[in-house]
Amino acid sequence: MKIFSADWILPISAAPFENGAIVIENDKILHVGHKKTILENYPNAETEDFGEAAIMPGFVNCHSHLELTAMRGFLDDAEGDFFKWLIKLSVTRAEKLSEKDIEASAILGALEGARAGVTCFGDIGRYGRAGLEALKKNGLRGIIFQETDFSPLNENAAADFEKLKEKFLALSAAETELVKIGLSPHAPYTVSRRLFEKITDYAVRENVRVSIHAAESKMEEDLMTHGTGAMAEFYRARGIDWSAPQVSSIEYLNNIGVLNAKPLIAHCIKVDERDIELIADSDSGIAHCPKSNAKFGHAIAPFEKFLDKKLRVGFGSDSVASNNICDVLEEARFAALLARTRTDKKRLLAAREIVETATLGGAKAMRLETQIGTLEAGKQADLIVLSLENIAQIPLHDVYAAVLFASGACDVRVTMVAGREIYRDGRSKMIDETALKTEIKMIAGKMNEI
Ligand SMILES: [Zn+2]
Repeated sequence: MKIFSADWILPISAAPFENGAIVIENDKILHVGHKKTILENYPNAETEDFGEAAIMPGFVNCHSHLELTAMRGFLDDAEGDFFKWLIKLSVTRAEKLSEKDIEASAILGALEGARAGVTCFGDIGRYGRAGLEALKKNGLRGIIFQETDFSPLNENAAADFEKLKEKFLALSAAETELVKIGLSPHAPYTVSRRLFEKITDYAVRENVRVSIHAAESKMEEDLMTHGTGAMAEFYRARGIDWSAPQVSSIEYLNNIGVLNAKPLIAHCIKVDERDIELIADSDSGIAHCPKSNAKFGHAIAPFEKFLDKKLRVGFGSDSVASNNICDVLEEARFAALLARTRTDKKRLLAAREIVETATLGGAKAMRLETQIGTLEAGKQADLIVLSLENIAQIPLHDVYAAVLFASGACDVRVTMVAGREIYRDGRSKMIDETALKTEIKMIAGKMNEI
């Protein structure tokens, strides 16, 4: 048993309070309360006081692609054309990187998250094994969603589903208490209707978590609603028979039954009132990725409406190939500022609800809210200690404002998952950072060879 105390506790499930403490026993939170009372009740426990700091739940990153971390900055020259960007990414991943390189890349991404106070990832993996190993080696929690390969033809659905299931079952055998395996049919424009149906049937029957990219870009919208645009031309040029459903991506996913699997849907930019209703009615989740969306120039998702509808919404960094960092606090701050900038806003989103989205919201989006997302007795001890002593953070008049608008990844002092410290004061407790940095630089050199 150990006790952490600090000037501030942000339980998220209750109002923040000063001079608090938290009792941790094994992997769980035993008690959250005022320091004085807790020290009286547990006089023999090992105690550590962090002073000018906040203890709060760890951040949940609902949408990442850890295996692409070695591509940080590598694709920036192709960002003006989303389709070209996707092709350059796929070719590089398939032709330049070995399995070992992809795993090192994923380990680096997970390490970056741990250093930034992320305790849980919803990670999409074309090579799911890399993400799984990355979370395990960093001591993180999460769900690895094994992604489909490019499979737009109905006639290939049966064979492609069998291949996907094989990968999924092999990964599932290596599941742990902390890391679970799900499935990810990539997107409505790269997966055939029949394959979507097969994955959905399996996921509903076997209670498997599903995550999908949808309603992300104009390219996708053009293809889905009118059968036009770059993707449509790509299909036509290759003789791929793909007929547009002539409805929005979300409506399409509803029409073919995919929302029955209550998927975690990444992006949801191109969504109207009806789409939002469908997401609400199906109790699906949303991974809001504002920085990735902005960096591509895709547009701004209606985050305020997601909150007002009380949807299961959390933040996603997306891959660092499109972000270029994994810092959920910065993601949250950017989301708040963007939402406040929208001309159709009805109100100013409060710092409190944005911090809640970064923690409990993410847990809900991943359907893990009974285990994580708040500091409450009985929940998993997934928490961070965030320093509040830096010059740029003082004076402190409003703790939510200090966390959201004046703090960043560099202020995270401790990251703990299931009662185990995985990061403290600039150093991972799990990974040899020097060796990993050397390996990543070698991989980057290989990627740039012609
Ligand atoms: Zn993504």
